[in-house]
Amino acid sequence: MFDKMKIYNKLIKILDPALVKLDEPLSKHTSFKIGGPADILVIPRNEEELRKILKASREEKIIPYVIGNGTNLLVLDKGIRGVIIKIANNMNNIFFDGTRITAHAGVLLSALSKAAMGKGLTGLEFAGGIPGTVGGAVCMNAGAYGGEMKNVVVSVEAMDFNGGVKKYSKEEIRFGYRTSIFQKEKLIILKVCFELQKGSYNKIKKQMDKLSERRRKKQPLWEPNAGSTFKRPDGSYAGYLIEKAGLKGYQIGGAQVSKIHAGFIVNKGNATAKDVLLLIQHIQKTVEEKFGIKLVPEIKILGED
Ligand SMILES: Cc1cc2nc3c(=O)[nH]c(=O)nc-3n(C[C@H](O)[C@H](O)[C@H](O)COP(=O)(O)OP(=O)(O)OC[C@H]3O[C@@H](n4cnc5c(N)ncnc54)[C@H](O)[C@@H]3O)c2cc1C
Repeated sequence: MFDKMKIYNKLIKILDPALVKLDEPLSKHTSFKIGGPADILVIPRNEEELRKILKASREEKIIPYVIGNGTNLLVLDKGIRGVIIKIANNMNNIFFDGTRITAHAGVLLSALSKAAMGKGLTGLEFAGGIPGTVGGAVCMNAGAYGGEMKNVVVSVEAMDFNGGVKKYSKEEIRFGYRTSIFQKEKLIILKVCFELQKGSYNKIKKQMDKLSERRRKKQPLWEPNAGSTFKRPDGSYAGYLIEKAGLKGYQIGGAQVSKIHAGFIVNKGNATAKDVLLLIQHIQKTVEEKFGIKLVPEIKILGED
Protein backbone atom coordinates (compact mmCIF):
# COMPACT_ATOMS: atom_id res chain seq x y z
CA MET A 1 0.00 0.00 0.00
CA PHE A 2 1.36 3.40 -1.03
CA ASP A 3 2.31 5.58 1.93
CA LYS A 4 2.11 9.23 0.89
CA MET A 5 3.65 10.52 4.14
CA LYS A 6 6.71 8.35 3.60
CA ILE A 7 7.47 9.77 0.15
CA TYR A 8 6.49 13.28 1.28
CA ASN A 9 8.93 13.15 4.21
CA LYS A 10 11.63 11.80 1.93
CA LEU A 11 11.10 14.55 -0.66
CA ILE A 12 11.12 17.44 1.83
CA LYS A 13 14.46 16.16 3.17
CA ILE A 14 16.15 16.15 -0.24
CA LEU A 15 14.49 19.24 -1.77
CA ASP A 16 13.46 22.71 -0.67
CA PRO A 17 10.16 21.90 1.15
CA ALA A 18 8.48 24.83 -0.62
CA LEU A 19 8.70 22.81 -3.87
CA VAL A 20 6.82 19.81 -2.44
CA LYS A 21 3.07 20.07 -1.87
CA LEU A 22 0.94 17.57 0.03
CA ASP A 23 -2.73 16.97 -0.92
CA GLU A 24 -2.47 19.76 -3.46
CA PRO A 25 -5.76 20.63 -5.26
CA LEU A 26 -5.08 20.18 -8.97
CA SER A 27 -7.79 22.74 -9.71
CA LYS A 28 -4.99 25.20 -8.87
CA HIS A 29 -2.79 23.74 -11.62
CA THR A 30 -5.25 23.30 -14.51
CA SER A 31 -6.71 25.93 -16.83
CA PHE A 32 -10.13 24.25 -16.37
CA LYS A 33 -9.84 25.03 -12.62
CA ILE A 34 -11.16 21.53 -12.01
CA GLY A 35 -9.56 18.51 -10.32
CA GLY A 36 -9.24 16.81 -6.95
CA PRO A 37 -6.00 16.66 -4.96
CA ALA A 38 -2.70 15.10 -5.91
CA ASP A 39 -1.17 13.20 -2.96
CA ILE A 40 2.11 14.95 -3.77
CA LEU A 41 2.87 17.66 -6.32
CA VAL A 42 6.47 18.67 -6.79
CA ILE A 43 7.94 21.39 -8.99
CA PRO A 44 11.65 20.71 -9.66
CA ARG A 45 13.98 23.61 -10.50
CA ASN A 46 16.53 21.63 -12.48
CA GLU A 47 17.54 18.19 -13.81
CA GLU A 48 19.34 17.23 -10.61
CA GLU A 49 16.21 17.79 -8.53
CA LEU A 50 14.15 15.91 -11.08
CA ARG A 51 16.55 12.97 -10.85
CA LYS A 52 16.23 12.98 -7.05
CA ILE A 53 12.42 12.94 -7.27
CA LEU A 54 12.54 10.01 -9.71
CA LYS A 55 14.95 8.09 -7.47
CA ALA A 56 12.78 8.63 -4.36
CA SER A 57 9.69 7.59 -6.34
CA ARG A 58 11.43 4.44 -7.61
CA GLU A 59 12.38 3.49 -4.06
CA GLU A 60 8.69 3.75 -3.10
CA LYS A 61 7.61 1.97 -6.31
CA ILE A 62 5.68 5.00 -7.52
CA ILE A 63 5.47 5.96 -11.19
CA PRO A 64 5.03 9.73 -11.23
CA TYR A 65 2.90 11.60 -13.78
CA VAL A 66 4.31 14.70 -15.48
CA ILE A 67 2.32 17.83 -16.19
CA GLY A 68 3.21 21.18 -17.70
CA ASN A 69 0.93 24.20 -17.40
CA GLY A 70 -2.17 22.00 -17.10
CA THR A 71 -3.92 23.55 -20.12
CA ASN A 72 -4.90 20.31 -21.82
CA LEU A 73 -5.99 18.32 -18.78
CA LEU A 74 -9.20 17.17 -17.13
CA VAL A 75 -8.29 15.88 -13.68
CA LEU A 76 -11.07 13.82 -12.11
CA ASP A 77 -12.76 14.80 -8.86
CA LYS A 78 -11.00 12.38 -6.52
CA GLY A 79 -7.64 13.56 -7.76
CA ILE A 80 -4.48 11.55 -8.31
CA ARG A 81 -2.78 9.02 -6.06
CA GLY A 82 0.99 9.23 -6.14
CA VAL A 83 3.39 11.90 -7.31
CA ILE A 84 2.79 14.62 -9.90
CA ILE A 85 5.88 16.32 -11.27
CA LYS A 86 5.07 19.76 -12.64
CA ILE A 87 7.53 21.08 -15.21
CA ALA A 88 6.44 24.70 -15.37
CA ASN A 89 7.30 27.96 -13.60
CA ASN A 90 10.83 26.54 -13.12
CA MET A 91 13.15 25.00 -15.74
CA ASN A 92 12.46 27.92 -18.04
CA ASN A 93 15.61 29.24 -19.69
CA ILE A 94 15.94 30.10 -23.37
CA PHE A 95 19.24 30.03 -25.32
CA PHE A 96 19.87 31.47 -28.80
CA ASP A 97 22.37 30.31 -31.39
CA GLY A 98 21.82 31.98 -34.77
CA THR A 99 18.48 30.71 -36.11
CA ARG A 100 18.36 27.95 -33.45
CA ILE A 101 16.65 28.32 -30.11
CA THR A 102 16.94 25.86 -27.25
CA ALA A 103 14.26 26.16 -24.57
CA HIS A 104 13.79 24.29 -21.31
CA ALA A 105 10.54 22.33 -21.07
CA GLY A 106 9.03 24.75 -18.51
CA VAL A 107 9.17 27.78 -20.83
CA LEU A 108 5.71 29.03 -21.80
CA LEU A 109 5.06 29.03 -25.55
CA SER A 110 3.89 32.64 -25.31
CA ALA A 111 7.27 33.62 -23.83
CA LEU A 112 9.16 31.55 -26.40
CA SER A 113 7.28 33.09 -29.35
CA LYS A 114 7.88 36.59 -27.99
CA ALA A 115 11.57 35.86 -27.47
CA ALA A 116 11.85 34.58 -31.06
CA MET A 117 10.07 37.70 -32.29
CA GLY A 118 12.50 39.85 -30.30
CA LYS A 119 15.39 38.24 -32.21
CA GLY A 120 13.60 38.67 -35.56
CA LEU A 121 13.15 34.89 -35.96
CA THR A 122 10.08 33.62 -37.78
CA GLY A 123 8.31 30.23 -37.45
CA LEU A 124 6.71 30.34 -34.00
CA GLU A 125 4.04 32.99 -34.63
CA PHE A 126 1.32 30.28 -34.60
CA ALA A 127 2.22 29.31 -31.02
CA GLY A 128 1.99 32.72 -29.36
CA GLY A 129 -1.56 32.14 -28.05
CA ILE A 130 -1.25 28.47 -27.02
CA PRO A 131 -1.14 28.63 -23.22
CA GLY A 132 1.04 25.55 -22.58
CA THR A 133 4.71 24.93 -21.89
CA VAL A 134 7.31 23.83 -24.42
CA GLY A 135 7.24 20.31 -22.87
CA GLY A 136 3.45 20.02 -23.07
CA ALA A 137 3.42 21.43 -26.61
CA VAL A 138 5.97 18.91 -27.88
CA CYS A 139 4.18 16.03 -26.16
CA MET A 140 0.89 17.11 -27.81
CA ASN A 141 2.44 18.33 -31.08
CA ALA A 142 0.42 21.47 -30.41
CA GLY A 143 -0.58 23.50 -33.42
CA ALA A 144 -2.75 26.33 -34.67
CA TYR A 145 -3.40 28.39 -37.80
CA GLY A 146 -1.52 26.00 -40.08
CA GLY A 147 1.56 25.65 -37.86
CA GLU A 148 2.56 22.85 -35.49
CA MET A 149 5.49 21.92 -33.29
CA LYS A 150 6.59 19.29 -35.79
CA ASN A 151 7.54 22.01 -38.30
CA VAL A 152 9.99 23.79 -36.00
CA VAL A 153 11.43 21.14 -33.64
CA VAL A 154 14.87 19.75 -34.48
CA SER A 155 15.50 17.56 -31.42
CA VAL A 156 14.41 16.96 -27.84
CA GLU A 157 16.40 16.00 -24.77
CA ALA A 158 14.38 13.81 -22.40
CA MET A 159 14.95 11.93 -19.15
CA ASP A 160 13.75 8.39 -18.57
CA PHE A 161 12.39 7.36 -15.17
CA ASN A 162 15.79 5.96 -14.18
CA GLY A 163 17.35 9.40 -14.61
CA GLY A 164 19.10 8.68 -17.93
CA VAL A 165 19.10 11.48 -20.51
CA LYS A 166 18.90 10.94 -24.28
CA LYS A 167 18.58 13.21 -27.28
CA TYR A 168 15.72 12.34 -29.68
CA SER A 169 15.85 13.39 -33.32
CA LYS A 170 12.73 14.68 -35.03
CA GLU A 171 12.24 11.27 -36.70
CA GLU A 172 12.49 9.46 -33.36
CA ILE A 173 9.82 11.77 -31.87
CA ARG A 174 7.28 10.44 -34.41
CA PHE A 175 5.07 13.51 -34.47
CA GLY A 176 1.50 13.02 -35.65
CA TYR A 177 -1.73 14.96 -35.34
CA ARG A 178 -1.71 16.04 -31.65
CA THR A 179 0.59 13.17 -30.77
CA SER A 180 4.24 12.20 -30.32
CA ILE A 181 6.29 9.40 -28.80
CA PHE A 182 6.13 11.25 -25.45
CA GLN A 183 2.47 10.25 -25.07
CA LYS A 184 3.39 6.57 -25.18
CA GLU A 185 6.76 6.27 -23.49
CA LYS A 186 7.66 7.18 -19.92
CA LEU A 187 9.92 10.11 -20.72
CA ILE A 188 10.21 13.62 -19.32
CA ILE A 189 11.02 16.34 -21.82
CA LEU A 190 13.85 18.54 -20.54
CA LYS A 191 14.93 20.72 -23.45
CA VAL A 192 13.80 21.34 -27.00
CA CYS A 193 15.87 22.67 -29.90
CA PHE A 194 13.96 24.67 -32.55
CA GLU A 195 15.12 25.76 -35.98
CA LEU A 196 13.58 29.04 -37.13
CA GLN A 197 14.29 31.41 -40.00
CA LYS A 198 15.46 34.97 -40.20
CA GLY A 199 12.50 37.30 -40.65
CA SER A 200 11.41 40.85 -40.07
CA TYR A 201 10.43 41.89 -36.54
CA ASN A 202 7.58 44.06 -37.85
CA LYS A 203 6.09 41.31 -40.00
CA ILE A 204 6.32 38.76 -37.18
CA LYS A 205 4.69 41.17 -34.74
CA LYS A 206 1.89 41.98 -37.16
CA GLN A 207 1.15 38.27 -37.66
CA MET A 208 1.22 37.54 -33.93
CA ASP A 209 -1.09 40.47 -33.17
CA LYS A 210 -3.47 39.30 -35.92
CA LEU A 211 -3.61 35.76 -34.55
CA SER A 212 -4.14 36.85 -30.96
CA GLU A 213 -6.95 39.16 -32.07
CA ARG A 214 -8.54 36.16 -33.84
CA ARG A 215 -8.30 34.11 -30.64
CA ARG A 216 -9.78 36.91 -28.56
CA LYS A 217 -12.76 37.10 -30.92
CA LYS A 218 -13.35 33.37 -31.42
CA GLN A 219 -12.40 31.69 -28.13
CA PRO A 220 -13.90 32.02 -24.64
CA LEU A 221 -10.57 33.09 -23.14
CA TRP A 222 -12.16 34.66 -20.04
CA GLU A 223 -13.79 31.40 -18.89
CA PRO A 224 -11.80 28.42 -17.53
CA ASN A 225 -11.39 25.78 -20.25
CA ALA A 226 -8.84 23.35 -21.67
CA GLY A 227 -8.85 24.41 -25.32
CA SER A 228 -10.43 22.18 -27.96
CA THR A 229 -12.19 19.31 -26.23
CA PHE A 230 -12.00 16.94 -29.22
CA LYS A 231 -9.52 16.15 -31.96
CA ARG A 232 -10.45 17.30 -35.44
CA PRO A 233 -12.28 14.44 -37.20
CA ASP A 234 -11.28 13.63 -40.79
CA GLY A 235 -12.80 16.10 -43.23
CA SER A 236 -14.62 18.23 -40.65
CA TYR A 237 -14.28 20.27 -37.46
CA ALA A 238 -15.52 19.18 -34.02
CA GLY A 239 -16.84 22.66 -33.20
CA TYR A 240 -18.83 22.81 -36.45
CA LEU A 241 -20.44 19.37 -35.85
CA ILE A 242 -21.27 20.20 -32.22
CA GLU A 243 -22.88 23.48 -33.25
CA LYS A 244 -24.81 21.78 -36.09
CA ALA A 245 -26.05 19.21 -33.58
CA GLY A 246 -27.66 22.09 -31.68
CA LEU A 247 -25.41 21.80 -28.64
CA LYS A 248 -23.95 25.30 -28.42
CA GLY A 249 -24.67 26.51 -24.89
CA TYR A 250 -25.81 23.03 -23.73
CA GLN A 251 -24.99 22.67 -20.03
CA ILE A 252 -24.64 19.86 -17.53
CA GLY A 253 -24.06 21.05 -13.96
CA GLY A 254 -21.39 23.74 -14.22
CA ALA A 255 -19.96 22.52 -17.55
CA GLN A 256 -21.17 24.22 -20.71
CA VAL A 257 -20.53 23.91 -24.44
CA SER A 258 -19.14 27.41 -25.02
CA LYS A 259 -21.59 29.82 -26.63
CA ILE A 260 -18.62 31.45 -28.36
CA HIS A 261 -16.92 28.33 -29.78
CA ALA A 262 -18.72 24.97 -29.61
CA GLY A 263 -15.36 23.14 -29.76
CA PHE A 264 -14.64 24.32 -26.21
CA ILE A 265 -16.22 23.24 -22.93
CA VAL A 266 -16.15 25.97 -20.30
CA ASN A 267 -16.38 25.83 -16.52
CA LYS A 268 -19.14 28.22 -15.50
CA GLY A 269 -17.66 28.51 -12.02
CA ASN A 270 -18.53 25.37 -10.11
CA ALA A 271 -18.15 22.56 -12.65
CA THR A 272 -16.95 19.19 -11.44
CA ALA A 273 -14.95 16.79 -13.59
CA LYS A 274 -18.04 14.56 -13.54
CA ASP A 275 -20.08 17.36 -15.18
CA VAL A 276 -17.45 17.68 -17.91
CA LEU A 277 -17.30 13.91 -18.45
CA LEU A 278 -21.10 13.67 -18.74
CA LEU A 279 -21.12 16.56 -21.18
CA ILE A 280 -18.35 14.94 -23.27
CA GLN A 281 -20.37 11.70 -23.41
CA HIS A 282 -23.56 13.58 -24.35
CA ILE A 283 -21.75 15.44 -27.15
CA GLN A 284 -20.19 12.22 -28.48
CA LYS A 285 -23.53 10.41 -28.47
CA THR A 286 -25.46 13.28 -30.11
CA VAL A 287 -22.86 13.93 -32.81
CA GLU A 288 -22.55 10.23 -33.59
CA GLU A 289 -26.34 9.84 -33.86
CA LYS A 290 -26.66 12.86 -36.17
CA PHE A 291 -23.55 12.55 -38.33
CA GLY A 292 -22.15 9.06 -37.73
CA ILE A 293 -18.87 10.55 -36.51
CA LYS A 294 -17.31 9.52 -33.19
CA LEU A 295 -15.49 12.48 -31.66
CA VAL A 296 -12.29 11.57 -29.83
CA PRO A 297 -11.17 13.73 -26.86
CA GLU A 298 -8.03 15.76 -27.37
CA ILE A 299 -7.85 16.68 -23.68
CA LYS A 300 -6.08 14.21 -21.41
CA ILE A 301 -8.34 12.76 -18.73
CA LEU A 302 -6.57 11.52 -15.61
CA GLY A 303 -7.09 10.63 -11.96
CA GLU A 304 -9.77 8.85 -9.94
CA ASP A 305 -13.49 9.27 -10.59
C1 LIG B 1 -7.55 28.76 -24.20
C2 LIG B 1 -6.77 27.59 -24.76
C3 LIG B 1 -6.39 27.58 -26.08
C4 LIG B 1 -5.67 26.48 -26.61
N1 LIG B 1 -5.32 26.52 -27.92
C5 LIG B 1 -4.63 25.47 -28.44
C6 LIG B 1 -4.24 25.50 -29.82
O1 LIG B 1 -4.48 26.44 -30.56
N2 LIG B 1 -3.55 24.42 -30.28
C7 LIG B 1 -3.23 23.35 -29.49
O2 LIG B 1 -2.60 22.41 -29.98
N3 LIG B 1 -3.60 23.33 -28.19
C8 LIG B 1 -4.27 24.35 -27.64
N4 LIG B 1 -4.64 24.31 -26.32
C9 LIG B 1 -4.33 23.12 -25.49
C10 LIG B 1 -2.99 23.20 -24.74
O3 LIG B 1 -2.62 24.53 -24.47
C11 LIG B 1 -1.87 22.49 -25.50
O4 LIG B 1 -2.16 21.12 -25.70
C12 LIG B 1 -0.52 22.62 -24.77
O5 LIG B 1 0.49 22.14 -25.61
C13 LIG B 1 -0.48 21.84 -23.46
O6 LIG B 1 0.69 22.24 -22.76
P1 LIG B 1 0.74 22.17 -21.15
O7 LIG B 1 2.11 22.60 -20.72
O8 LIG B 1 -0.36 22.90 -20.54
O9 LIG B 1 0.60 20.60 -20.92
P2 LIG B 1 -0.37 19.83 -19.91
O10 LIG B 1 -1.77 20.14 -20.22
O11 LIG B 1 0.10 20.05 -18.52
O12 LIG B 1 -0.06 18.32 -20.35
C14 LIG B 1 -0.44 17.86 -21.62
C15 LIG B 1 0.30 16.54 -21.92
O13 LIG B 1 1.70 16.82 -22.02
C16 LIG B 1 2.45 16.00 -21.12
N5 LIG B 1 3.60 16.80 -20.68
C17 LIG B 1 3.60 18.06 -20.20
N6 LIG B 1 4.86 18.46 -19.93
C18 LIG B 1 5.66 17.42 -20.23
C19 LIG B 1 7.08 17.19 -20.15
N7 LIG B 1 7.94 18.13 -19.72
N8 LIG B 1 7.56 15.97 -20.53
C20 LIG B 1 6.72 15.00 -20.97
N9 LIG B 1 5.38 15.15 -21.07
C21 LIG B 1 4.87 16.35 -20.70
C22 LIG B 1 1.47 15.64 -20.01
O14 LIG B 1 1.83 14.43 -19.41
C23 LIG B 1 0.15 15.52 -20.79
O15 LIG B 1 0.06 14.25 -21.39
C24 LIG B 1 -5.34 25.38 -25.77
C25 LIG B 1 -5.72 25.41 -24.42
C26 LIG B 1 -6.42 26.49 -23.91
C27 LIG B 1 -6.79 26.51 -22.45
